Amino acid sequence: MNFPSSINSKLPNVGTTIFTVMSALAKEHNAINLSQGFPDFNPHPVLMEEVEKAMRGNFNQYAPMAGYLPLRERIAEKAETLYGAKVEADSEITITAGGTQAIFTAILSVIREDDEVILFAPAYDSYAPAVELAGGKAIFYDLEAPDYKVDWQKVKRLINQRTRMIIINTPHNPSGTILREADMKELEKLVQRSDIVLLSDEVYEHIVFDKLQHESVLRYPKLAERSFVVSSFGKTFHTTGWKVGYCIAPKNLMAEFRKVHQFNVFSVNSVAQIAFAEILKRKELYLELNSFYQDKRDFFKRAIQSSRFNLLKCEGTYFQLASYSRISDERDIEFVRRITKDMGVAAIPVSVFHRSHSDNSIIRFCFAKEDETLKRAAELLTKI
Ligand code: GLN
Repeated sequence: MNFPSSINSKLPNVGTTIFTVMSALAKEHNAINLSQGFPDFNPHPVLMEEVEKAMRGNFNQYAPMAGYLPLRERIAEKAETLYGAKVEADSEITITAGGTQAIFTAILSVIREDDEVILFAPAYDSYAPAVELAGGKAIFYDLEAPDYKVDWQKVKRLINQRTRMIIINTPHNPSGTILREADMKELEKLVQRSDIVLLSDEVYEHIVFDKLQHESVLRYPKLAERSFVVSSFGKTFHTTGWKVGYCIAPKNLMAEFRKVHQFNVFSVNSVAQIAFAEILKRKELYLELNSFYQDKRDFFKRAIQSSRFNLLKCEGTYFQLASYSRISDERDIEFVRRITKDMGVAAIPVSVFHRSHSDNSIIRFCFAKEDETLKRAAELLTKI
């Protein structure tokens, strides 16, 4: 008999993440992959040169557990210039193996058995499993298409004695909406005089369009004092495969975060951290990202204008939602499989981000692609 004869799964309802599934299907069918979010172009050449320099120098052993200090200092400077936040590089920033690890570690460091965590669905697919692995319970607030607006009075009704955390995500994946100042003020009111911790997933902080402002919780001292803020160099510097991100939190929360981080990854890729510390000096590279991706959003939009897809509003991120209700009444999962196989373009079905799998015939395209790729994809999508 094989041992163990049966495994009592800790995540019985979780399969392989949709990003892996769709990228594999795209590869199998040689389709243009607009599903999993990653650029099809290279990072800045200077960033690659800096990695090589660091590698050929003497930087191939463990980085400090919390991250390379000059990198943390650059991040603290950025938080101050952009959001007016005073963050201690030494005790309030940790470099992580990407945004997902930062999210997982933040959740694990504070969530206990039976704690409740409020999530906004469609929610990034790692949030709820992370909460459940920590013994907590994910409580879903359903945002509704096409605006995906939060009604904070309704959120209030979800809060009770067991509520330990609220996870927000702005710019929001997959909807492409962003929270406004008024939302942050409502959130402030909601959590004041409570012990609720916030986890603010801001990995698309530099991808905000139409001159809108990114509302980082770091702009709001009353929120920042109880928040883990997560960001990602993968999104900002076109290096999703390097898996480097970071978490900012006040000292007391960060101390708990590091207790988990040190026994999970210990420390993160040294040479990439050194390169990011250098490239962060070139502020224009992240400040230009808004207009770089706004051009791509607009290019893609124009290119599929004559198709039968209806595009939803996209205020940030590199994702464009599209309704296919004029094309088909298939379930979104079947629809994306079919267009991947038959039409040669892969996308992400939005129902997978809902606990209820509620399906509004909406799919997500990633436009972090060369214009040529977007053009070819649009030609194919126009034929559907
Ligand atoms: N964040 C990316 C997306 O939404 C994917 C990340 C991943 O594949 N783990 O597509």
